[in-house]
Amino acid sequence: MKRIVIAGCGFGGLRVAEQLVKQKDVEIVAIDSSNCHTFVPGLYEVATGEVSIKEVCEPFSVLFIRRGIKFINESIKDINIKSKILKTETKVIKYDYLVLAIGSEVNYFNVPGLKENSYPLKTREDGDKIYEHVTKTVANMKDKQLHRFVVLGGGVTGTELAAELRDYLDIICRRENIPKEKFSVMIVQAMDGLLPGFNESVRKFCEHYMADHNVVLKLNSPVVSVKKGILVLKSGEIIKADTVFWCGGLKVNQLVEKIGLSGDEFGVKVNTNLQSVDDKSIYVLGDCMNYIDPRTNEAVYKTAQNALKQARVVSFNLCKAINGKKKLKSYKPKTTPVLISLGKRRAIFVWKKLWFRGKWMLKVKDWVEKNYMWKIRL
Ligand SMILES: Cc1cc2nc3c(=O)[nH]c(=O)nc-3n(C[C@H](O)[C@H](O)[C@H](O)COP(=O)(O)OP(=O)(O)OC[C@H]3O[C@@H](n4cnc5c(N)ncnc54)[C@H](O)[C@@H]3O)c2cc1C
Repeated sequence: MKRIVIAGCGFGGLRVAEQLVKQKDVEIVAIDSSNCHTFVPGLYEVATGEVSIKEVCEPFSVLFIRRGIKFINESIKDINIKSKILKTETKVIKYDYLVLAIGSEVNYFNVPGLKENSYPLKTREDGDKIYEHVTKTVANMKDKQLHRFVVLGGGVTGTELAAELRDYLDIICRRENIPKEKFSVMIVQAMDGLLPGFNESVRKFCEHYMADHNVVLKLNSPVVSVKKGILVLKSGEIIKADTVFWCGGLKVNQLVEKIGLSGDEFGVKVNTNLQSVDDKSIYVLGDCMNYIDPRTNEAVYKTAQNALKQARVVSFNLCKAINGKKKLKSYKPKTTPVLISLGKRRAIFVWKKLWFRGKWMLKVKDWVEKNYMWKIRL
């Protein structure tokens, strides 16, 4: 019987496990350092109390027991690819095939003081910490005090967090009879606009929408250091920042560098069958993999949707490989639609050059989240 070890059970790893469960004569061992599977795109709502942790997380114990899959809740410390051995905190596990899906981690780009003086948004613990901090800040506001929340990074995560935070603060201020001017929300963005990579009309719409809804935009402003209560910009300007949220970048999981597979800071190098170019018994997917589409020569975006699509190719190819078949499926990336929420009143749907906006898009976004969680709980 062949043993498949799934390292990391986020979007990619969990989906592979779900799809392999019916495969005969294989033993599946799933490993994750967290005890819960998290719907990461919903974390900005956890950060503002819009949804509870329970709505976006499901314990692995429940998910895997139900599927009859062995689960180890430990952090992977090392993988020896020559001897096909993986080490966790307390175990040494031999594998025949490895699915590497350990995702990414926050990148602070060595900016002095950034890590120590900011809140990242990557895990459910981060979402919880932000919520606690924001609620405490609001509750402890003194009469004449003003508080500025600064979101560093104007990509999708930063834009969604800033918009949601502004709406949340407005609601609290109305409820508690606090002048809403006491709290300001600012996005500080290194580039010349929000949502880099999206088409011009979407970007302009978002920028106007945010400005109209009292989110201050500070563009073309790379930050060179962060100290308690202040940001120092490359231009030399100093900005008051009572609370800083870091939404400016992710990098490949550090364990990937340690393993020694070919790749770079963007992830492990794979062939079109999503196997490591160094070892065909290792399948790699999601944020820890760097796939350059040979048709366009462009890197594939690191999104949950792409990780789920890659999982389909990986599980298909694993089944073939186990059964001794040589002809494997090639991964052919496609542009997937993106939903970006702008607080509690609006969201945008973007697909290629097409885009729509409206309150009903929020309902679609909400449905996507609920549908995903409902399906994994089945
Ligand atoms: C705030 C935020 C918002 C986002 N919004 C969207 C969105 O709207 N739409 C979209 O498509 N994408 C979105 N993304 C991107 C998306 O979340 C990622 O692309 C996706 O999670 C990648 O899936 P993955 O399986 O590669 O990794 P992950 O989902 O990150 O899973 C990796 C798993 O590996 C585990 N792990 C890591 N290291 C170890 C270790 N050493 N030992 C054991 N286990 C380990 C982790 O605990 C985790 O469970 C967002 C990301 C963030 C941070």
